[in-house]
Amino acid sequence: MNRFDHAKTVLETLESYGFEAYFVGGSVRDYIMGREIHDVDVTTNARPETIKDLFQKTIDVGIEHGTVIVLIDDEPIEVTTYRTETTYTDYRRPDSVSFTTSLLEDLSRRDFTMNAIAMDKNMNIEDPFDGHIAIEEKRIETVGIADERFNEDALRMLRAVRFISQLEFNLTTETEDAIRKNVSLIKYVSIERIVKELKKLYEGKNVTEAKHALVNTNMYRHIPFFKTLSRTEIIETNAHSLIDEIVVQLIKDPSMSYANILKLSNNETKYIKNSLRLLDDARSNLESKRLAFKYSEDVIGNTVSLLELNPILDESLIKRIKDAKIEKQKLPIKNRSELEINGRILMEKLNKKGGPWLQTLLTKIEGEVIMGRLKNTEKDILEWVLNEQENNL
Ligand code: ATP
Ligand code: MG
Repeated sequence: MNRFDHAKTVLETLESYGFEAYFVGGSVRDYIMGREIHDVDVTTNARPETIKDLFQKTIDVGIEHGTVIVLIDDEPIEVTTYRTETTYTDYRRPDSVSFTTSLLEDLSRRDFTMNAIAMDKNMNIEDPFDGHIAIEEKRIETVGIADERFNEDALRMLRAVRFISQLEFNLTTETEDAIRKNVSLIKYVSIERIVKELKKLYEGKNVTEAKHALVNTNMYRHIPFFKTLSRTEIIETNAHSLIDEIVVQLIKDPSMSYANILKLSNNETKYIKNSLRLLDDARSNLESKRLAFKYSEDVIGNTVSLLELNPILDESLIKRIKDAKIEKQKLPIKNRSELEINGRILMEKLNKKGGPWLQTLLTKIEGEVIMGRLKNTEKDILEWVLNEQENNL
């Protein structure tokens, strides 16, 4: 079934009540290109309150921006009221959103001509800016004067570069010059949006070309994760090194203020958290052998390579983590289950009932074995335990 079919119900319903409604944005662009369609967006002259009245299941997402999610067979469709965006004073969000009854005005506020095409339920297009020609010629060109459009909203520059990778398109000369001119405004874009765009960039087909654009327009100098890297290093980055850069930023910023807003995948979060935990432990002077025991080879290895890339911590800390990598190979046991003793034997030999003392004792034994002060045999361990008991009497 066509991805547009659910959204078609939305167009038909709105039209049956006398409203205009069109498919718009990335889905129309991708449809014209013959690419796989993801989310289908709808634009309409119906107001948000009306949209909510006309459909059974809706979710308010950004009603103040005119967007309501309509659920058709549990399939979410973003329906947005025609709008214009008035003045921008902070380079990222319009100061106020005003609704309009004109499709042309709605299309005019969109970023690139390829994204400013409306399509009706019979797949006929309304394309006042000749977006289909830009698509044919693989051009990333703004609706209106590029310099003004980037000055209004700096995020558009990141989107432009992301589209190079995602669609294998090229910046027009005007677009590229305007990016070069306005690129310092990227500082007004939130880290979360930057990461989102960069992730899409790295997932695209033409990552190399997009990275060259990051370098050629000097954009990388305004991206927090990349500003310390050289041009050559930027060309060598990949999605993984983006995450590495984030970890490095987090190391510098222990408040973790970035971490919460990045909305990374579970795996990425785990990767970052493990490295940060390891660093925290190293900072609080946990010995290398202990670090080696506590963390997997992967986590230690990743953290070491991160630190080699960005030696921003003090030498002794780095040494402790590097030593942990070596110690990992030499550990007498890899985890507690490899101890040649267990709770049952200890209770039996000491003639004591189970209780919190048992965990404390096992942790102590484990520590002695890891540190190489006690051999991992039942006989040695029991001797040591009895000896400890006598000393504590
Ligand atoms: P994707 O394939 O990643 O979904 P998209 O073009 O659909 O790409 P969305 O973020 O889903 O991107 O936005 C939907 C549409 O909203 C865009 O196609 C564009 O018309 C408009 N749009 C999005 N962001 C901006 C922006 N910063 N400035 C102007 N128009 C925008
Ligand atoms: Mg989209």
